[in-house]
This record gives sequence, structure tokens and C-alpha cells, in this order.
Amino acid sequence: MARLCLAVLCLIASSPCAAAPPGDELPSVFTGSARNKLLLISFDGFRWDYDRDVETPNLDKMAKDGVKAAYVTPPFLTITSPSHFTMLSGRYVENHGVIHNMWFNTTTQEKKQYYMTQFVDSYWDNGSLPIWITAQRQGLKAGSLHFPGTAATYKGETVKVRQVEPRFYDHSNETDWRLNIDKVIGEWFHQQDLDFVSLYIGEPDLVGHDFGPDSPERREMVQQVDRTVGYIRNKIQDHGLTDRLNIIITSDHGMTTILRDGLVKKIILSKIPGFSFKDIKFQLLDYGPAGMLLPKEGMLEKVYQALKGSHPHLHVYKKEEMPARLHYSNHPRLLPIILIADPGYIVNGVLPLNSNKGEHGFDNEVMDMKALFRAVGPDFHKDMMVDPLDLVEVYPLMCHLLGINPEINDGHLDNTKHMLVPKKNTGGENNNPEKKNQMEVLIGLSALMGFLVLVFIITTSFNMWKRTRG
Ligand SMILES: [Zn+2]
Repeated sequence: MARLCLAVLCLIASSPCAAAPPGDELPSVFTGSARNKLLLISFDGFRWDYDRDVETPNLDKMAKDGVKAAYVTPPFLTITSPSHFTMLSGRYVENHGVIHNMWFNTTTQEKKQYYMTQFVDSYWDNGSLPIWITAQRQGLKAGSLHFPGTAATYKGETVKVRQVEPRFYDHSNETDWRLNIDKVIGEWFHQQDLDFVSLYIGEPDLVGHDFGPDSPERREMVQQVDRTVGYIRNKIQDHGLTDRLNIIITSDHGMTTILRDGLVKKIILSKIPGFSFKDIKFQLLDYGPAGMLLPKEGMLEKVYQALKGSHPHLHVYKKEEMPARLHYSNHPRLLPIILIADPGYIVNGVLPLNSNKGEHGFDNEVMDMKALFRAVGPDFHKDMMVDPLDLVEVYPLMCHLLGINPEINDGHLDNTKHMLVPKKNTGGENNNPEKKNQMEVLIGLSALMGFLVLVFIITTSFNMWKRTRG
């Protein structure tokens, strides 16, 4: 009998709830750092609805495993450098000052195209810090591959791990995309243990410009993007990072078809009565649907009056008259007269030189300018469709995911936190200490009761057996 009771006792003692001291039996929430890694990917010019007329199994799978917004609204001006710097800083364009893809000097008349502006530090380092620098200052390790702004130095500091594309880089090559992804995931995240990386891919923007957003070439490129999303997620899986890495995929703007072939009256400034380039000191024209003018001294009103109302699809603003919702008036780099064409039109100077079939740069309320937003990872809900958001919201979301204090910005975490699962240490029944203790007491009492019942049954049976024998 004594041996039997001892065996029962041992059995109970070896069960986890009775043996372990309180708190040890559940896996600890914080095993080292609670911070998950973050990969921000921008596919340039990926319009919000590009997945509607082509099969995108990998993007669909990502939406099922994570969060999909109907679309994201880019800042105005809806072009590459301004919009990407909004992604990195959470500021509207008038607040971060990267107002165009072009760098210019109105005194010397000098202009630099997109690629060369990457190396003009003062153009980017203009008061707003990109997230890489903020993360590094707070002890995190950041990297960036081809993202606009990567080459620049900010307050004496660059993003520590970086790759800037060579001068004449082929932005469409899928093999190159994969090599870059292997580097970001295999080397940067896995081997070098980086916390945050921004990765830029230059399509489907180029194909949208060359062939138009409704072309078979664009649809084919969206399939290439989709294969790449699958490749990225597989790589992450191969490196065992799926449960530790959040991914945000978004874009800087959409794309719309330019109306041509004599169907429309083109906007050509030199042909507008009363307008003369002799009155202009500096111009930024022939760059899609928006333009800027610096009239010579005393000529502002004349230029303005000549252009205003000159074409039914051209909007002419004095800088200070710009609609406040566009956040594109309050910066010294902006020129005194700003021109914006309606969708389908572009602003030409002397000759219609622009032959692109697709363009962006229009008002950010135009649906064709909206871009995609997807997110997946340990901190995001699964299979969740959310309302549209502004691109300025991505920055505070990223800072929150990385556990860093954001710089002053124009977004609000309140607008995205519904995408996130509650932090394990603050919510969830299993991690509420009070409930956990109650549970332990209950389990302990049940075990004791069970033991007593067992002893009672054994003792009774033993006595009955003895009586029967006797
Ligand atoms: Zn772009």
C-alpha cells in the first residue's frame, strides 16, 4: 500500500503544473530582444489596382497571411524622390523639402536628373531625418539597397549598410532582383543581424511609362513582381526568419494613361497667347504633369494672368494658393508659380517632347495615383483588409514596429495600429499575471483533490480486499 501511494505521489509531482515554480512553465515572452526585424520594400509605380487584371498568387497569399489596404495615398508631388522621402520620414513634401526628382539652382540654371541628385547631400539632408539614421542613433542596425536617398549623408551620418545602384543600372532584371534579395535576407538580416532594411525595386514604373498602365507589358511585369514576392517570402523562410521579420510592401505612386493621337489639345506653354519665356528666369517643365516657374522680377502677375484659364486641363497656382490638402506650398525650394495638368495631360514647354504612354505626378486624389500597401509578419494580423491610408502613416508604424522613438512627423500610429496584433507582454489571457496565478491555484487544488480521491479509493479497495481475504 505504501509503495502504491508513493508511486501516485511521484506521478503527481512529475506533472509540470505541480513541479515547476510559478511562472516557469510558460515560455518567456522576452527571450532576448522582443523587437522583430522589418523589411520595407518599394516597387516603384505599383498602382493600387495592378493585381486586378493579372494572376498574382504570391501577393494574394501574402494578403491572406497578413494585412492588405485597399490603397495608399502618396503625397503630392506624386513622383519618386519626394514620395520615397515621405516613406522614410513620415513628412509631407513641403515639410521634408525633397520637392522633386530634379535638383536645380535657379541662379546658375543648373539642373541634375534623378540619378545625380542622389549624391547631392544638401538636397536630402534638409531638416528631416530618414528612419535609418533615427534607428542607428537608437542602437539599431539599418541597411538600404537602391532606395532613393541611400547615398546621402544626414547630419554627418549615412545608413551604415548600403548599396547604391550604378549609374546605368538595369532596374528591370529579375536575376538581379534575386541577387539583391539574397544579399538583403542572407547577408544583411541573417549574417549581419540587421534590424531594418529598405529595398527599392524600379518596376513596374518603367514599363508603365514606356507601354502604359493598360499594356500587356505592364501585366507581365506585375507577374514578375509577384514571383519576386514569392521568392522573398521563401528566402525568409529558408533563413528561419519568418517569425521574426515583418514585411511592408508599398509604392511611391501609381500611373495613368496619357491621351494622344490628336484626341486632345496638348498643353504647350510657348503657344499660349500672352505667355513668353522672356518673362521667365527659371523653369522646371517637360517633366510630366506638373511644372514650376520662376518669373523675372516684376513679371509674376503677367505670367500668372497669361497662364490662368489658358487651357481647360491646366491648373495654375501661385505657390501660396496651392490647395492646403496637397501640402506643396510651404517650402522655400518651391517656385512662385506651380502648374498641374489633369489626368491624361502633361505640361510641355516649347515642344511636346514627352513621348511616355504612362505618367504620374498628378493630384494625389486621382485614383490612378494611388499605390499598393501590404504587410505580413509576426506583428500583423492575418487575413485582414483595412481602409485606405496615407503614405505618411507608414513611418510611425515602422518606428513602432522597431521600438524606436520617431522624429516629428505628419502621421499617426492611431491610423495603423488596428493592423497589429496586441503585444504579447501587454495583452492576451495567458500572459495576464493575475489570471495566470488563479489558474495555477486551480490546477494545484484539482491535483490535490484527485490525489485524495485516489488515496480514498485505494485505501477502501485495500481494506475490502483484506476483509474478503480475512
Ligand atoms: Zn516612382
